[in-house]
Amino acid sequence: MPTITAPAGLSSAEAAARLAADGPNTVAAPPRRHLAARIGRQLADPLVALLLAAAVVTTLLGDLADTAIIVFVVVVNTVIGVVQEVRADAAIAALDDLAAPSARVVRDGQDLVVPAASLVKGDLVRLEAGDVVPADLELTVAERATFDESSLTGESVPVPRSAGKPAGSGTVLTTGRAAGIVTQTGAASSLGRITDLVARTKPGPTPLQRRLSALGRALGIAAVAVSAVVFALGVLAGQPVARMAITAVSLVVAAVPESLPAVVTLALALGARRMARTRAIPRRLHAVETLGSVTVIAADKTGTLTENRMSVQRAVTATGDRYTIEGTGYAPAGTIRPSDHDDQLRRLALAGLLCNDAGLVPPSGDGEWGAAGDPMEAALVAFAARCGLDPATERARAPRIAEQPFDHATLRMSTVHRLGTGEYLVVAKGAPEAMLDSADDPALVAAAREMAADGLRVLAIATAVTDEPDPTVTTRAVGLVGIGDPLRPAAALTAAAFTRSGVRLLMITGDHPATAASIGTKLGILGPGDVVARGDDGPLTDQEIEHARVFARTQPERKLDIVAALQQRGEVVAMTGDGVNDAPALRRADIGVAMGGGTEVARQAAELVLVDDNLGTVADAIGEGRRIYDNIRRFLRYALSGGIAELLVMLVGPLLGMPLALLPGQLLWINLLTHGVPGVAMGAEPAEADVLDRPPRSPQESVLGDGLLVSVLLGGAAVASVVLAAGFVAHQAGRPWQSVMFVTLGLAQLGVALAVRAKAAPAAHRNWSLLAAVAFSGILQIAGVLTEPLRVLLGTEPLTAAELLACAAVAVLPGLALRLLRHGRA
Ligand code: ADP
Ligand code: MG
Repeated sequence: MPTITAPAGLSSAEAAARLAADGPNTVAAPPRRHLAARIGRQLADPLVALLLAAAVVTTLLGDLADTAIIVFVVVVNTVIGVVQEVRADAAIAALDDLAAPSARVVRDGQDLVVPAASLVKGDLVRLEAGDVVPADLELTVAERATFDESSLTGESVPVPRSAGKPAGSGTVLTTGRAAGIVTQTGAASSLGRITDLVARTKPGPTPLQRRLSALGRALGIAAVAVSAVVFALGVLAGQPVARMAITAVSLVVAAVPESLPAVVTLALALGARRMARTRAIPRRLHAVETLGSVTVIAADKTGTLTENRMSVQRAVTATGDRYTIEGTGYAPAGTIRPSDHDDQLRRLALAGLLCNDAGLVPPSGDGEWGAAGDPMEAALVAFAARCGLDPATERARAPRIAEQPFDHATLRMSTVHRLGTGEYLVVAKGAPEAMLDSADDPALVAAAREMAADGLRVLAIATAVTDEPDPTVTTRAVGLVGIGDPLRPAAALTAAAFTRSGVRLLMITGDHPATAASIGTKLGILGPGDVVARGDDGPLTDQEIEHARVFARTQPERKLDIVAALQQRGEVVAMTGDGVNDAPALRRADIGVAMGGGTEVARQAAELVLVDDNLGTVADAIGEGRRIYDNIRRFLRYALSGGIAELLVMLVGPLLGMPLALLPGQLLWINLLTHGVPGVAMGAEPAEADVLDRPPRSPQESVLGDGLLVSVLLGGAAVASVVLAAGFVAHQAGRPWQSVMFVTLGLAQLGVALAVRAKAAPAAHRNWSLLAAVAFSGILQIAGVLTEPLRVLLGTEPLTAAELLACAAVAVLPGLALRLLRHGRA
């Protein structure tokens, strides 16, 4: 065992040396893939294997031109595939870095936040409630520390642990505070040992990727069937068997969009990177695609929709006097109206100051006072100061000797203080309904209702002077405070954006229904007559789950029920959270959204981390998710209609007296120029202008749903028709019909690529890569008949300028028709 360190922690030099010696504190580092392995994977693709077999045959037949083309196609495809894979992996690795867990460590006597991966044995680690233990520790400090060890033991009841005891990596400090010395890191730690046993697996393919690979298989089978028919027709018409076999293989290769998986992965990975740039970090790739189909987003009120910058705005004393309080933020100075306030108000303010764990932080750089601890309690400290009390003096004069911490179930807390007289002061504060009785304090109950209706959070405060230090004695109300928390400036706009995009925004809060209703109204999500669901009176009804937008008096623990009930109704649920007890709901939700400022457990349970806690970013992320899905469908529309056109041309050509419509090399050339280059550029298409103004896509809908299949079939038929018509006319005129079809087919597919482009907002920046790719492919397509070497390679014949123009003119038609007929979404 290396030397145990002093409270100053390791020196950074020592930590670096140990890191170099022992390796990083990560569980099963992902294996780095070598270039050779990547190339091997590309070549192992069945389509490529088929092509290589065909190349062997063409070589044996002495058809070296076809061999050259096949080899060229394989090389280019492999390069494109490997480049895409490397780019996607790089984007994913960058995300992993952003989402990597961090740890608080003491080095050189200073508190630092470092990536958990850089911890070494002997490091002194500090933990706060909500932290995930980053390595195996021996605790040196444990104050009221309980650990949730369910990740190691499956036991979900938190276990108290004291100094001297171990804390295993992967467990969670649920309450209290702790510190400890690292005893084991990485694979040797307790989490590392079980992770090693359980799984060394990479996250599997996303649902969309799985659906698309099923689609790919189905297409492959269809292409093989059609190619078999083409083969049979050719042989029956007297074509050489070997040539027809090569043609059939080329047709399969051309018709199947082999770049589909690469296009999808790259689109998802690049989308994830764009999201990260807008400060919404997706922790898993599938989050990117799921976001697009979110139908409900359940958000915390406090801190997410509001600023969590609280201030006491009104006070009512037990004697019925009412005051309004003004002041900026947490600054101790402010005005109280009416200004001739009496002892009653000071008693209320003092009680709020004593039954309180928060403090005020003097202004630093930004010139504003801050809150230390619960912002609501800090507001009470500022209030006391505005009433003329000095917080430090008053707290010293009545030291706290016992307490009952705030409990979500009882909605109150109480503290006991020793007074100079030898007696004890008991102070309780909490929700009015937990503190007041309408028989004893009818005026206060009425005042509380009034303040709640104005959107204020109301706290009742009560005291008793006793001979015994008992926090549970009966207290008498000294008054009420009404605490305001401003809506975030953009909250109403964000709410409206969700509404436009068909996503139901739910507001979840522990506050009173009246307070919640008032804020819901200001947000614009609660209309007259809308119900406010309550989390504290039995299970939620179907009616509430289906229609309620505001959930009041709801504890974090109940969020799980809300998510489950919504999911049962077929909703795709995003849920925000930041605390320890939010983690189960975050995990259960389709998209758990953690606040960047929240706890480490919440972040690790989530799919999406909002760095700046701004809910508006989720709306943008939903737009990004929809855009990516649109682009995948865009690629399908383009690639599948092209493949179908190729099959149709080869199938119908012989019936029109054109026995071998296209030569194998020509098919492969078209395939390369259409699927390869422009296909990849489609993942970068901007969002449709209306991407956030339409309802979410049903998660049950097929990728080819919503009319895409029909449009693919029609598109393919349209391309095939113009190609066959052009070929037929040339055939009748005794011109090189095969070359005419070759040029027309390639250009018509590129026309479709232009037609399926996004109808983006005017401000969106253009996807120049697609335009460049289309231009590049178009030039190479025409070069296939214009230049001598390519003519030899492809077996084409020269066409006149007029003929080329005519080909281009008819090739425009299918794309034009698609563009004009297309309405609605991609
Ligand atoms: P939210 O989830 O909206 O932040 P909370 O669950 O934190 O709401 O609070 C619910 C209610 O519990 C509050 O409206 C208030 O009445 C009461 N409450 C919250 N914090 C305290 C506290 N520290 N002391 C006493 N009462 C509290
Ligand atoms: Mg709260």
